[in-house]
Amino acid sequence: MAAMSERTDILIVGGGLVGASLAIALDQAGCDATLVEASAPRAGAQPSYDERNLALARATVNGLRAIGVWPHAASRATAIKHIHVSRAGEFGAARIDAAEAGVDAVGWTLPARELGAALLARLDETTRLKRLAPASVKSLQPVADGWQVRIEADGQVRDIHTRLLVGADGTHSMVRQSVGIQAETYDYGQHLFVCTVTPQRAPDGRAFERFSDQGPVALLPLAAGSAGLVLTVPEDQAETVAALDDAGYLDLAQQRFGWRLGALTRPGKRFGYPIQRVASTRLTGSRAVLVGNAAQTVHPIGAQGFNLGLRDALTLAEKVAGTDDPGASALLAAYAEQRAPDREGVMAMSHGLVRLACLDEPMLAPLRSAALLAYDRFTPLRQLMARRGMGFRGRPPRQVLEVTP
Ligand SMILES: Cc1cc2nc3c(=O)[nH]c(=O)nc-3n(C[C@H](O)[C@H](O)[C@H](O)COP(=O)(O)OP(=O)(O)OC[C@H]3O[C@@H](n4cnc5c(N)ncnc54)[C@H](O)[C@@H]3O)c2cc1C
Repeated sequence: MAAMSERTDILIVGGGLVGASLAIALDQAGCDATLVEASAPRAGAQPSYDERNLALARATVNGLRAIGVWPHAASRATAIKHIHVSRAGEFGAARIDAAEAGVDAVGWTLPARELGAALLARLDETTRLKRLAPASVKSLQPVADGWQVRIEADGQVRDIHTRLLVGADGTHSMVRQSVGIQAETYDYGQHLFVCTVTPQRAPDGRAFERFSDQGPVALLPLAAGSAGLVLTVPEDQAETVAALDDAGYLDLAQQRFGWRLGALTRPGKRFGYPIQRVASTRLTGSRAVLVGNAAQTVHPIGAQGFNLGLRDALTLAEKVAGTDDPGASALLAAYAEQRAPDREGVMAMSHGLVRLACLDEPMLAPLRSAALLAYDRFTPLRQLMARRGMGFRGRPPRQVLEVTP
């Protein structure tokens, strides 16, 4: 099979939630880019365009609006007006409130399948972007001024030379390995289940996060009074929980979430995910950069992974727009420097939150309660956390900032 030889400025490996967003932003910025995705470009076919319910921070929705994705998704999203964080059996709770922050919503809930469909619809509108899907990357070779990438698509082998290689290929990134970037892995020993439920009292724009010794549980508001329930269980209970019938699962969910919204009813299909934290030790290599889960995979309960990954994508697009050489080492260094505070802050917060809030340590209980109460009573701290909770962290890319008419 003779290989076709081509050139591109930027080649993105992985068209998941972050890779697709980056491809759209680059196309909009007039860059020459190629997107390679292993799965067929269909919601449901791509691994992360699935039934998980995403909590999208306000900054994320601003970003999705700026790159033309949000109009394809808005009608399926549910506004989050209030976030309530507590710990089972302990006193005190922390709240973030849209009205207090002076905004119409702190974020929106959207099933990943719907965001995937919106990204695909927007990808269809791109004008310069080259898309290869389903396509598999066979090899990656460093060459003098970039990378030579061998790809098989439609039974054809193509050799594509790129000046910048982007790894948007998820937690177990092949690009990360090929570029020689190490990753540190932490196994939480937890398994996460996702399904929709209908609470007796509609969540009405309220999102809940509740920590307990068995792991965190979250409930996100969805359309028509339903809710997305995210339940974490210790890994050694995962098989038993997966085998529960609907009534057994509802009992467990009720026990873990409590009765704040009355009885939980009508559980939908259940989906399970193992949970790991995977943090790359560097974001860039020679003419290569990692974004999204390839750069950092965080515990899903903090609802930060895509929010953080979109800020990676939009920052990178901002940096390469209009430059002569998108793979220049100074540009990549500036990218990594700009992303560092946001990335490190979110990783530390997600990791610390899950570990501290789930520790079965009676001595910690009064401290945790005091911290939650202090947080809730101290307005400046609440305002700072509300800003961070809405995704305005570090030095954010311009496209996520508020646009005042
Ligand atoms: C249950 C759950 C709930 C979550 N909830 C939230 C939330 O509320 N808010 C939030 O912000 N985040 C949330 N997340 C995290 C979020 O889903 C991820 O951070 C996000 O999907 C990462 O996007 P990505 O594009 O980096 O990686 P992925 O979405 O994993 O996409 C990687 C893509 O690369 C492709 N690929 C892999 N290898 C190759 C290859 N060699 N060649 C070509 N293509 C390849 C894959 O097919 C895939 O499409 C949640 C995660 C889970 C599991």
